[in-house]
Amino acid sequence: MHEMSLAVEILRIADEAAAEAGAGRVLRVGVGVGWLLQVEEQSLAFHLRAMRQDYPRLREAVFDLAEEAVRVRCRACGEETQQADWGFSCGSCGCRDVAVVTGDRLEVQDMEVLTDDV
Ligand SMILES: [Zn+2]
Repeated sequence: MHEMSLAVEILRIADEAAAEAGAGRVLRVGVGVGWLLQVEEQSLAFHLRAMRQDYPRLREAVFDLAEEAVRVRCRACGEETQQADWGFSCGSCGCRDVAVVTGDRLEVQDMEVLTDDV
């Protein structure tokens, strides 16, 4: 269910971006999947393949899913460090007062498109 709603979100964003770029067809969509979302990649890929049919521009699109690691910024020392597991803490000073910088969202990072010939 989670993966299905994320797939809808990716398709919507990619379709909008293609429309804005005046692209008739999208060949490839690079998607960054934040680790915090705990996405089942196979399931997400399945839903993307199943639902892209509803978007004429995206029917042939290949979706490249890349997991994005969690990085946090420490409120004490200001260092930004990558996290390997839950229980986030600063990799520099060990402080637990940290803010998530990346890895908490889904992002369409890049797209290859074909524009319509006029
Ligand atoms: Zn720190």
